[in-house]
Amino acid sequence: MKYDYLIVGAGLFGSVFAYEAHKRGKSCLVIDKRDHIAGNVYCEEIEGINVHKYGAHIFHTSNKKIWEYINQFAEFNNYINSPIAVYKDELYNLPFNMNTFSKMWGIKTPQEAKAIIAKQIEELHITEPRNLEEQALSLAGTDVYEKLIKGYTEKQWGRPCSELPSFIIKRLPFRFTYNNNYFNDRYQGIPIGGYTKIVGKMLDGIEVKTGTDYFQFKKDKPDIARKIVFTGMIDEYFGYRLGALEYRSVRFETEVLDTDNYQGNAVVNYTDREIPYTRIIEHKHFEFGTQEKTVISREYSSEWKVGMEPYYPVNNEQNNQLFEKYRELAEKENNVIFGGRLGNYKYYDMDKVIESALETVDREFR
Ligand code: FAD
Ligand code: UDP
Repeated sequence: MKYDYLIVGAGLFGSVFAYEAHKRGKSCLVIDKRDHIAGNVYCEEIEGINVHKYGAHIFHTSNKKIWEYINQFAEFNNYINSPIAVYKDELYNLPFNMNTFSKMWGIKTPQEAKAIIAKQIEELHITEPRNLEEQALSLAGTDVYEKLIKGYTEKQWGRPCSELPSFIIKRLPFRFTYNNNYFNDRYQGIPIGGYTKIVGKMLDGIEVKTGTDYFQFKKDKPDIARKIVFTGMIDEYFGYRLGALEYRSVRFETEVLDTDNYQGNAVVNYTDREIPYTRIIEHKHFEFGTQEKTVISREYSSEWKVGMEPYYPVNNEQNNQLFEKYRELAEKENNVIFGGRLGNYKYYDMDKVIESALETVDREFR
């Protein structure tokens, strides 16, 4: 056994674990099947702009400990995410707030907005919301649901809102103040210099092999480490023997444009069903960029199939039950720790992944 730990996946979970284990004098080998480190937070520099290759990533957390932890590795700018939603020829502010309601109904006060929403909700007779559709309707009423939620969500998840879990929509703030901050969290920003540098610092002094798939690697080197930290797909680890979990994949169409400012905002969502993409990201605006050109990415959501990148776990009841069965198998697997978004099949944000990695570290080294 050459290493204490073989860490599969150089994303945030694997890298935080590797950093902490290395700090404690453990020998680690980190492998990733992609040809770069940083997993989904990887940024690639194009025209002097940090392009979020696997989707826009805004760091936000209310956990002071996690904020201080990540700030060891980078300074953060003061970017506040405030997406714009385009519905047909109408433009709204997100998340759902007084700016949205004022534009939608030509009103000014929270009382007026509350009265309109309350009236719409009353007509629906929903007592206990059972799915995303009922949750969204009973929170925001019919107009907001129809214009800003239904089309976007069905494109994003490829399922009717009535078949999706309500927690997905509860991620978004809904407020009666003129506040366009997409998050309620206390701390928020984009790391100056990009996310890849953060992960680079975490992995400094640790052996890393990119372009290395675990399933191939283990055939040649079955006994290379005392323990494995696996952050890939849990169902793939077990050869899909209980069936495949469902994921959503995303395809990005990235373009360099010969203009310094294409859409005036980092994130513009397209909420009607007819536009095939969910959103357009203009990367430079995350860092208040002043470059002469700009880079944009259109995001197209699709069902995941073997061989594609799995981006989002589809945490409906059926998949969660199947995951539970995989988790039982995982518990019996000696000397393997499963972690991260794919290993735990959870819709984790970055702060939650770091938190979970640090909890794993505490358990492992107590
Ligand atoms: P990953 O980053 O996916 O890392 C897992 C790594 O394991 C990958 O690099 C993969 O190549 C590797 N791997 C898998 N299988 C194998 C194998 N068999 N052999 C070798 N290597 C393997 N969070 C936020 O906080 N804010 C945001 O704004 C935000 N936006 C997001 C937007 C999108 C489109 C997506 C998909 C996610 C977003 N997230 C956001 C979530 C964030 O990406 C995750 O929380 C975080 O990156 C997960 O880290 P991880 O280490 O668990 O997984
Ligand atoms: N959502 C929506 N309209 C929007 C943006 C988001 O209905 O304009 C819903 C959609 O169901 C989405 C969920 O809110 O999946 C969570 O949005 P978020 O921006 O957090 O998604 P992510 O960053 O994970 O892609």
